[in-house]
Amino acid sequence: MNDGRALARAYLEQQRLLGTDAVALPAPTPGLCPGLAEPQPGKHTALSGAVVQPTPGTPGVRQGSVEPPETPGASPGEAPKPKAGALHLSGLSFDPPAADLFSTDPVQRAATIAQVAELVAECTKCRLCEARRNTVPGEGPDDARLVVVGEGPGKTEDETGRPFVGKAGELLTKILAAIGLERERVYICNVVKCRPPENRTPQYDEIAACVPYLFRQIELLAPTVILAMGNTAAQTLLNTKQSLGALRGRVHRFRGIPVIVTYHPAALLRNPNWKKPTWDDVRIAHRLLDG
Ligand code: URA
Ligand code: SF4
Repeated sequence: MNDGRALARAYLEQQRLLGTDAVALPAPTPGLCPGLAEPQPGKHTALSGAVVQPTPGTPGVRQGSVEPPETPGASPGEAPKPKAGALHLSGLSFDPPAADLFSTDPVQRAATIAQVAELVAECTKCRLCEARRNTVPGEGPDDARLVVVGEGPGKTEDETGRPFVGKAGELLTKILAAIGLERERVYICNVVKCRPPENRTPQYDEIAACVPYLFRQIELLAPTVILAMGNTAAQTLLNTKQSLGALRGRVHRFRGIPVIVTYHPAALLRNPNWKKPTWDDVRIAHRLLDG
């Protein structure tokens, strides 16, 4: 994207999604928009560079919708702002081709989430089928607005056929509860649907073999937001080798759907210092859900 206006539009949209209401708008050209030439309550104007504070209780002005310019220390007593500062334009976008009407590939032809799970159950497209006890296609309602993507099933998941039910799963359930989401309302799945031996990271060819299931699931679910937990999920959904650290703090897109990247719950169990940043990420996902 090199068109300045398209960039500005994308930026404004991102700020809107993140709930950053105060936006610097160019002052209207006098005479062109009669009645708009005067500064409006609650708007920045490029001319003054200042926020016109609304009188508390002014009709039509949403309380708390005005935020001061981001000058450190300029706003004693302000409510904590969302961690939007690090979010900038350069989120990645990945747009793999979606299913077409004439495809003969059974995965592309699967019309429901349940049909995808049936195909996964008999899949032998990669070596991970050899040692699995159960496939773990994913679970959750067909109309989930949030899809959580992890890496691959662990031991408990392999034993039960359900995603995120071990220790990492318990933590995921708590993380979701913290933003008021019952686990039952979220679709939870993984990049690979069979357990890698000793819980090793799935290999590139395994991911490549399995990813059509995930992509079709996302296409059928058409969620509002995707939460990618850990390197494997983030790198697969965004088709990148960038590290989790580089990917966090931006709103990316998978076929146009916002993708928020955060730490994997299993990593949080090992490193509790990452809980706070994970909480920040999940709050951004929550905001996008509300948008
Ligand atoms: N870790 C994952 O990535 N997925 C699970 O289902 C469980 C643990
Ligand atoms: Fe098939 Fe995926 Fe299981 Fe490999 S991991 S056998 S591609 S379902």
